[in-house]
Amino acid sequence: MQNDIAALTLDLGGVRVTRVEEASDPILRPAEIFPDSTPEIIQANLDWLSPRFYDAESDRLVITIQSFLLQSGGLNILVDTCVGDCKQRLRPDFDNKRWRWLERLAAAGVQPQDVHFAVSTHLHVDHVGWHTQRVGDEWKPTFPNARYLFTHPEWEYWRNNEGHPALVRTGDYIGDSVWPLFHAGQADLVAMDHEIAPGIALVPLPGHTPGHVGVSVSGSHREVLLTADLFHHPLQCCYPHWNTRFCLDPEHSRATRLRMMAHLAETGLLVLPAHFPAPTAGVLRKLTPGEDAVHPDHVYRFDFQ
Ligand SMILES: [Zn+2]
Repeated sequence: MQNDIAALTLDLGGVRVTRVEEASDPILRPAEIFPDSTPEIIQANLDWLSPRFYDAESDRLVITIQSFLLQSGGLNILVDTCVGDCKQRLRPDFDNKRWRWLERLAAAGVQPQDVHFAVSTHLHVDHVGWHTQRVGDEWKPTFPNARYLFTHPEWEYWRNNEGHPALVRTGDYIGDSVWPLFHAGQADLVAMDHEIAPGIALVPLPGHTPGHVGVSVSGSHREVLLTADLFHHPLQCCYPHWNTRFCLDPEHSRATRLRMMAHLAETGLLVLPAHFPAPTAGVLRKLTPGEDAVHPDHVYRFDFQ
């Protein structure tokens, strides 16, 4: 499948949001990510899933991996940093790759030294990769002048979980992509509702991981919520009770997702989910029972903008 690297820049009024994509490929079998999915459900949704959100030939869901660049008041703020280059990972899709992510960041007018803040919505492998780059035998901060922000509960959880199944399953990404920032003195621990700059603040969305956060971005005429991994795939808008296998606290994750989705549908807030393909931005719409005759079991629909 062709990578879709279409740029998206939202001008919110004094604040710009630009997506910086690393990859958008069919990489996960439905059952590999969603324990509640069945081949029958995938078949019943094939009309809208394939090929944009699901590759039927390989039986894999398309997962986009991207960062969001926020620019406001002269600050360059990066939210999440994808998988990264040359990282040793057990998943072949992530192992020892060379991506064009830095080129795309440069195309947005930003060099690594221009980044003021690198924010992690949570510490999963596909959100911290570009935090560091290999220099000789060492992993060094990619953004030499940046403060790297981590939420307190997130760092407390991962720093005390050496040998965690996620690290065994994927490779020790905390060791090569997070610890070096603490060693370099560039890491800051912040509250889950921390305000990074005027109009740009973290929003607690715990459950997927203990310190998982979204980012609320408000300009003078528009607001958007970066929902991070609150939901991973448009299928979860249809079936909002679906957790992923990567949700560390499934019940908490589900409760947070259901609460937030109800809020998002009610307010019509513009949303940027971390793993949705271009143009990524959209609004969540609650379906009235029977409105979608083809898929009467769908709860919400994600309308891309
Ligand atoms: Zn993710």
